[in-house]
Amino acid sequence: ITDRGVILSLEGVNKSFDGFKAINDLNMAIDAGELRCIIGPNGAGKTTMMDIITGKTVPDTGRVRFGQTMNLLGMSEPEIAQAGIGRKFQKPTVFEALTVAENLELAMQGDKSVWSTFRAKLSGSQQDYLGEVLETIGLQDGAKGRSGSLSHGQKQWLEIGMLLMQRPHVLLVDEPAAGMTHQEMDKTTELLTSLAGDHTVVVVEHDMDFVRSIAQRVTVLHQGHVLAEGSMDDVQQDQRVIEVYLGE
Ligand code: ADP
Repeated sequence: ITDRGVILSLEGVNKSFDGFKAINDLNMAIDAGELRCIIGPNGAGKTTMMDIITGKTVPDTGRVRFGQTMNLLGMSEPEIAQAGIGRKFQKPTVFEALTVAENLELAMQGDKSVWSTFRAKLSGSQQDYLGEVLETIGLQDGAKGRSGSLSHGQKQWLEIGMLLMQRPHVLLVDEPAAGMTHQEMDKTTELLTSLAGDHTVVVVEHDMDFVRSIAQRVTVLHQGHVLAEGSMDDVQQDQRVIEVYLGE
């Protein structure tokens, strides 16, 4: 993995479903440490793009590269996750019966099926890291509380924490602001901003106010292709982008 420069790139990627081109000659490069927002109307191909990066969907043609050399095509979902690309889906999947800290511990140790029986004690450095993550996601005071009693926003942050337990280089985050109060959105902005730099953060998001609050660089997808890319101000003034959004 490089410290600088492009960490993730898609080159000439195509994907059809039953003859329908969901991804159409998609080219995109994301720099290490960036906080990138991917926006675009429904059906633009955002989910398919994330699925291709994480290995859930195999494209028909094109290249997907991680770091300078790693070719993600042909790698399985677990292999790609292992290589350092973590994904958070929109719907939180925390284990509600477990405490906040237990969810983080489980995320670090992996195998859910045997965890309750063969739970290994965390090492000192693992404990320290868990404490750091709790602080990062702002849940240090509720660490021993049952995660089922968390608010919607807190569950989303816990899930970002669960991703962090695997020390990913890249975090792919699906609609983090959905269903959040304004206050929760502000905290999420802070959290994602603080993660960028050390991590590369790619956010797919519909809420324009939220995108405006976090985005350094925005990529607008339309019909499986990059329609525009640049700062939020740039893309908002782009006539093609305006037309696509007005047409929704
Ligand atoms: P977005 O996330 O931007 O809303 P998607 O990536 O979900 O867009 O979808 C892009 C297009 O591809 C849509 O028209 C969708 O219906 C189609 N599509 C996505 N996945 C499948 C699939 N598994 N089978 C058939 N069509 C699909």
